[in-house]
Amino acid sequence: MSLSPILYTENVSKRFGGVVALDGVNVHVSPKMLTLVIGPNGSGKSTLINVIGGILRPDGGRVVLNGRDITKLPPHARFRLGLARTFQTPQLFTSLSVLENVLVPMHEYYEERVLEILLRNAWRLREREYIDRAFQILRLLNLDHLWDAPASDLSGGQMKLLELARILMSDPRVIVLDEPLAGVNPSLANEIMGYLTSLRSELGVSFLIVEHRLDIALKFVDYVFAMHQGRVVAEGPPDAVVKHPAVIEAYLGG
Ligand code: ADP
Ligand code: MG
Repeated sequence: MSLSPILYTENVSKRFGGVVALDGVNVHVSPKMLTLVIGPNGSGKSTLINVIGGILRPDGGRVVLNGRDITKLPPHARFRLGLARTFQTPQLFTSLSVLENVLVPMHEYYEERVLEILLRNAWRLREREYIDRAFQILRLLNLDHLWDAPASDLSGGQMKLLELARILMSDPRVIVLDEPLAGVNPSLANEIMGYLTSLRSELGVSFLIVEHRLDIALKFVDYVFAMHQGRVVAEGPPDAVVKHPAVIEAYLGG
């Protein structure tokens, strides 16, 4: 990769009792890239994502974001440094509108900054900027025409996109997506992957994706890490990784 990574792990290991879930894992996410982690069940994907997000502390190794060692930071501190994640069940306010859902976290965040609220003109200016940014993001996710609808009116797939829109308001550098295509029909799944490719170029955000639906995900991603039994057994562009003998063996041999 030509650009230095925005996020990487270095020799990360994690065991649960006698089970070695991660065994010296090195993965990296380059700026404005879609990076995919694949591997059969039990290969360590969720553990890796939880170590990166700060939900699990590794037994060894480091997690580095933007040149900074974040291994010991809790999840909210990582979020402030630009590392965000989505959840399998979208965390939305169903009685609020689409636009309100996108704007809510900005209010929460800025309410802490009392001084800024006292400077009312500055606040109004910012409010205007947030609404402009909200519409830019909603447009990129094809939700802008629904801005006034209650979130409860959205389909399951649209709710996932709305959660992503809300996360994008905080201008993260990297977003970790845990199975974004789970339970989504093929045409929407292709649409979602297409949105991710436009978000990385329009907003300069990178994605680290764990996904089982390889037929769809592999068409869109730039770089793939394949895991098996807690180790990275292959990495590279998608077409090379799927042909790699260690990857074929991992999926066939279990
Ligand atoms: P994947 O997401 O690729 O299916 P996981 O990271 O969930 O894999 O699991 C990797 C290994 O670690 C598996 O053997 C799993 O049983 C074990 N494991 C994961 N989480 C825990 C836990 N909280 N306690 C005990 N074992 C766990
Ligand atoms: Mg998992």
